[in-house]
Amino acid sequence: MGFTSDIEIARAAKKKPIQAIGAALGIPPDDLIPYGHDKAKVGAAFIKGLAGRPDGKLILVTAINPTPAGEGKTTTTVGLGDGLNRIGKKAVVCIREASLGPNFGMKGGAAGGGMAQIVPMEEMNLHFTGDFHAITSAHNLLSAMIDNHIYWGNELGIDTRRIVWRRVMDMNDRALRDVVVSLGGVPNGFPRQTGFDITVASEVMAILCLSRDLEDLQARLGSIVVGYTRDKQPVHCRDLKADGAMTVLLRDAMQPNLVQTLENNPAFVHGGPFANIAHGCNSVIATTTALKLGEYVVTEAGFGADLGAEKFFDIKCRKAGLRPSAAVIVATVRAMKMNGGVAKADLAAENVAAVQAGCANLARHIENVQGFGVPVVVAINHFNGDTAAEIQAVKDHVAGLGAEAILCRHWAEGSAGIEDLARKVVELAESGVADFHPLYPDAMGLLEKIETVATRIYRAAGVQADSAIHEQLRAWEAAGHGHLPVCMAKTQYSFTTDPTVRGAPTGHIIPVREVRLSAGAGFVVAICGEIMTMPGLPRVPSAEVIRLNDQGHVEGLF
Ligand code: ADP
Ligand code: MG
Repeated sequence: MGFTSDIEIARAAKKKPIQAIGAALGIPPDDLIPYGHDKAKVGAAFIKGLAGRPDGKLILVTAINPTPAGEGKTTTTVGLGDGLNRIGKKAVVCIREASLGPNFGMKGGAAGGGMAQIVPMEEMNLHFTGDFHAITSAHNLLSAMIDNHIYWGNELGIDTRRIVWRRVMDMNDRALRDVVVSLGGVPNGFPRQTGFDITVASEVMAILCLSRDLEDLQARLGSIVVGYTRDKQPVHCRDLKADGAMTVLLRDAMQPNLVQTLENNPAFVHGGPFANIAHGCNSVIATTTALKLGEYVVTEAGFGADLGAEKFFDIKCRKAGLRPSAAVIVATVRAMKMNGGVAKADLAAENVAAVQAGCANLARHIENVQGFGVPVVVAINHFNGDTAAEIQAVKDHVAGLGAEAILCRHWAEGSAGIEDLARKVVELAESGVADFHPLYPDAMGLLEKIETVATRIYRAAGVQADSAIHEQLRAWEAAGHGHLPVCMAKTQYSFTTDPTVRGAPTGHIIPVREVRLSAGAGFVVAICGEIMTMPGLPRVPSAEVIRLNDQGHVEGLF
């Protein structure tokens, strides 16, 4: 396939009507709400009716620490879904929706790549079924109601210096990170400083992704803490009576979106929370629905396994009662080389020693994931230029740890290139060896939870936090939030908080700079290092070359 781009492959796809994809899963046409010919939402009543059915097996796709060389988690998730279908299993893929913002900054989509993609990929990467617009609207309705409440007399006594609820937009726009609102005199309210985050960083996004159903959604929205009074008492969304209207705006967005892979297998693409200040997985409702409809559900967690898999297990699985049967850790020879100290410019040259050195990073992720009671197989996502000796070095290293690494060519070949991995996943899942348990119990103190992740997963010597953070965590415990899991916000590139430290470091300290309460989503965020909640565009944004061609097709996006 040579130089054929992802978008050219996607455009050539022989898509089936979405009703045919639904029918293969046993969804009657009346229970699909079509958005055009190739996308549909699954009706709430149908989903409710699935409650008594047994669950399929849940397979997590995660990865080593990402490097600029690229790993291919989404590509492998889609490929494995197709591979399982190819060997006769009824498998469903579950991934996140894409944020508009980054699309106009750096080239690159979120629908997989090569012969392992979700279609229609242009739409999935643009407005899709409007979920993110609905989330943006619901979030900003609450923002508007806060300032409106203050304008009309501030009966709740909100301290305008202590409002934590900002505004959101699904665009990379650094100019909006810090703004002053209500300028212009008496009719416009009381000026105050606030700012914008990107929509995927909204707590409403995390809430939508963790809610079981619409009732749960409304209850969680009501629990959002929007700010504090002068004597530091929390003010909730439900105190402003915004939760009902927000739920109305989100009703359709709560329904999972059904689309298909290039090989016409079913895929749910639903929700897209940030993987740093939120948990970074697709929605619970999509995953639980897929588990009722398929024998296998293959899903992806954002970033590397230290962040993505940990949060998938400790937040999503814990909260939704999910029990994964196996995990696939995606590694590439190129990324092993970079972890072994090779610069990006030198990746083309064979370097077995560097691959071996870089395998220390992979080894630690294997051990960590196994620590959750989930059996692991490594997928070596094959890139052109990988040499036989380098591939063998990864296989040998993993075999030495008592696990298996399997070469996968799904990017180039589709499902035919990933049959071996699919068979191994079935073997692991059906062996029944999985015995999933989260890393820490609900009852553990909040600081101890942070320390547990830092020492057991990141292998740090400890956590450093000043007394204000200790006090804040104790105050939340006293207010009844002590049972929540922690959501770690840290660089994805390293086990430490320094993105340049690759490999498998030990003995470092994890500094906790700030903690935030997401009472609606149901976690406490521990911010360790610089975390950007409103990205900016690069010097030459890809928006400069994105346009419609003579046939009306999008050019320049991928
Ligand atoms: P992740 O989910 O880990 O961020 P993706 O699966 O989205 O990664 O892949 C990132 C990019 O790398 C995509 O553009 C995809 O086409 C490309 N890619 C993935 N696997 C391969 C491969 N084996 N060879 C070449 N390019 C690949
Ligand atoms: Mg991905």
